[in-house]
Amino acid sequence: MVEHVKPIPSTWCPGCGDFGVLAAIKRSLAELKVPTEETVIVGGIGCSGGIHNFMDAYGFHSLHGRLLPNAIGMKLANPRLTVIAAGGDGDGYAIGMGHFVHALRKNVSLVYIVMNNETYGLTKGQASPTAPPTFRDNRETPFDAILTALSVPGAGYIARGFSGDPKMASQLITEALRYNRERKGFAFVEVLSPCVTYNDTYKLWREKVLSVADRPGFDFSDRGKAFQGYLEIVESGRIPIGLIYRAPDEKRPVSLDQSLLPDPAQAPATTDISLEHNRARYQKLLDALA
Ligand code: SF4
Repeated sequence: MVEHVKPIPSTWCPGCGDFGVLAAIKRSLAELKVPTEETVIVGGIGCSGGIHNFMDAYGFHSLHGRLLPNAIGMKLANPRLTVIAAGGDGDGYAIGMGHFVHALRKNVSLVYIVMNNETYGLTKGQASPTAPPTFRDNRETPFDAILTALSVPGAGYIARGFSGDPKMASQLITEALRYNRERKGFAFVEVLSPCVTYNDTYKLWREKVLSVADRPGFDFSDRGKAFQGYLEIVESGRIPIGLIYRAPDEKRPVSLDQSLLPDPAQAPATTDISLEHNRARYQKLLDALA
């Protein structure tokens, strides 16, 4: 039996930055007219990971840190789907870190959105991998996912938004979705998304964010120059936001879904794999193993 589950009202705290991300995703899907039945949201664990419950689309709540392998499997099984993996910094950059790096390397056409609030909000505000040394009693150095993404060949679309700037966040997600729909590869969008309950950074981040488009000479089409330009902004005490890197078409590696399944009609989810219709093919495979 197929059951249609309606979105439920959000359970987030009033003012949570994740509302801005939810609104941006909805706006982007509507702008690109992505059919509901072709959209899958894969959530992680944590406050932000429940985002699929608040949208009218297919949803999957993965294990902690495991949203990317699930999303990759879905896209490879059915390349016609628009797959959005959405979770938090604790989920993606701690227990999910290995999957993050390999998802960049595998380069499957899906959109990965990380709502970064520098804390574990759901478990009452512990320091996450992106927390600065000034956060509570944290003594560790914060992790920078943009620099990591830039250093792993594969990802052709890397961006950072801020939920305090919903217009830019929406534009970045729309472009990432377009990239996905054209099967160009993995698109990574981090969104600075303050946790108003345990780490209210709205004011601080409003003062510190700097759009790379306003930085003279910033070149988002060259990986090395983007890395250097980004680092210079960070070292000047600002937080870069905007389109950080988009590979020019001639330098963009072919996505794994495109190279494995150039014809989406031949994907496992869309072909008849019954014994009745494939007996000869299966026998050939068995004969090859004999
Ligand atoms: Fe958002 Fe923080 Fe509330 Fe979680 S605890 S819903 S991250 S404001």
